[in-house]
Amino acid sequence: MPSIRNKDRSVYRERLKSVGLRHTLPRERILSYLDRKNVHPTPEELYQGLRKKGYSIGLSTVYLNLQVLREAGLIREFKDPKGVTRYDGYSKPHYHLACRACGRVEDILASELPDFLEPILPQVEEKSNWQVDEAWVTFVGYCPRCKRGR
Ligand SMILES: [Zn+2]
Ligand SMILES: [Zn+2]
Repeated sequence: MPSIRNKDRSVYRERLKSVGLRHTLPRERILSYLDRKNVHPTPEELYQGLRKKGYSIGLSTVYLNLQVLREAGLIREFKDPKGVTRYDGYSKPHYHLACRACGRVEDILASELPDFLEPILPQVEEKSNWQVDEAWVTFVGYCPRCKRGR
């Protein structure tokens, strides 16, 4: 079984600890699998992906831990343009690009864009009287492949 490097393991251990979750191997494997750019699997795809990496895990364990990690705020659940539920655990701040035609979802790093959110958050809070600490932004349109055929 290919092992996750020790340095990485302590990162996920800390991340779990920071939200009061017990460290378990399935949680570590799921966090590590999801913490990559452009990786937004369905639970079934995640299950297949982990098995392909040589990690034997049950589908129900995947579902259960996705729920635990999502409730703890370590990963997000979202629907792609086709309405399919997918998971995202990429720890770098990023936004999504979603293709209307083929449904693919790509990441664009917040660090690659001007900071457009920070300046409006105080206004959002003032108008809504909410306390806001996160915003999910999805840019919807056509991916390079699909826009060519238009
Ligand atoms: Zn497309
Ligand atoms: Zn993402």
